[in-house]
Amino acid sequence: MSVRINNGYVITANAQNACMEGCVIVDGGIIVYAGSEALAPDMDVARTIDANGGIIAPGFVNTHTHVAMNLLRGYADDMALMDWLQNSIWPAEARLDEEAVYWGTMLAIAEMVSGGITCFSDMYNFTEQIAKAANDAGIRALIATAVLDIDGQGDKRLQKAADLFDFVKDYPRVEAAIGPHAEYTVSPEMFKKVGKYAQKFGSRIHVHISETFGEHSECIERHGKTPIGLLNSLGLLELPLMAAHCVWISDEDMTLMAEKDITVLSCPGSNLKLGSGIARVCKMMDTGVNVSCATDGAASNNNLSMMEEMTLISLLQKGVNHQPMLMPAKTAVRIATINGAKALGLEQITGSIEAGKQADLVIIDTSGVRYCPKTNLLNHFVYSGSDADVKLTMVGGDILYEDGKITFGDIEEIKAKASQQTARLVMT
Ligand SMILES: [Zn+2]
Repeated sequence: MSVRINNGYVITANAQNACMEGCVIVDGGIIVYAGSEALAPDMDVARTIDANGGIIAPGFVNTHTHVAMNLLRGYADDMALMDWLQNSIWPAEARLDEEAVYWGTMLAIAEMVSGGITCFSDMYNFTEQIAKAANDAGIRALIATAVLDIDGQGDKRLQKAADLFDFVKDYPRVEAAIGPHAEYTVSPEMFKKVGKYAQKFGSRIHVHISETFGEHSECIERHGKTPIGLLNSLGLLELPLMAAHCVWISDEDMTLMAEKDITVLSCPGSNLKLGSGIARVCKMMDTGVNVSCATDGAASNNNLSMMEEMTLISLLQKGVNHQPMLMPAKTAVRIATINGAKALGLEQITGSIEAGKQADLVIIDTSGVRYCPKTNLLNHFVYSGSDADVKLTMVGGDILYEDGKITFGDIEEIKAKASQQTARLVMT
């Protein structure tokens, strides 16, 4: 379908960070024009939308999440990470099955599109169901099957990870990746096997790195190396690797990551809530590392709002460095959009509003009090905006959310099915 969105303030996130009053024209799922209305081509379109002076921005790219964990939102809060994992989350996850993961994912996708997210990168189990839900909804996704071998099930999980590559081949917006969980759950031998599989499938690797001080320092005790140093010694940094969290990485880790083009998936909200710390995002970026941001799973956040993460990542860097000039609004927008697309290897097709890219975008209603007075819409978007202002979310030209409603399912059914599954997971 062809769509023309008129009367907008376009935040492009292109290389020049251009913002302008104008319109966006979409044809066949692709952005064919973004710019001033005066210079726009005169095209017949199936639908014209009036943005009413609102923002047209690239959709958010949520680079690290565990979408099915929406089922466990609020179930176990205010706990230390390892206690939380071992005594609450893992026992509940042991009861997960395909149906639970499907409905948990649908609930998460409904939440994400209502907050302007057009693409997510996940790591979990039962990933065929996550892929199916993403395809049913029409959202873009890079889905990594989690691989761990502390329970002796490593090879079985590796086979499941391999199976996903074939499973997603008919899903146009879904790609598979491989997700060795973390240094403390994956043996060096298994990391090497993961590296071989990633090479075989030409896939990205999605891994948790140095989320907590304990995890980081215990790795040094075990191996004489940081988690990044260990993965480097195992050859994994030669492959496209996405490192979630990176709260405790060293200066040497950062230099190595910049050299090897390893990308960071920073989760400021989750890191705060689990008391993990505050990642040195500005230092990483100064070192040349591509930093994106993410919500993590809803059990540790507890929402999937990239609008909140974009604000947090900026405010935290200003606060901890005592420098209000750090991470201006335009940089925070890039972290939440184009840097995320780059992290996922999708920067050629999404992450910015530019002719030739997929129409993955949001319209923000700026008629409310949060955007008044209209002194600077880019600043308002980062420092004042809210998910509640998202008017429309489009992926590949398809509208997945508009005026408070998802278009790919019945939200009451999704909420009811997800709630039923949660009741089963958390029974004692
Ligand atoms: Zn995670």
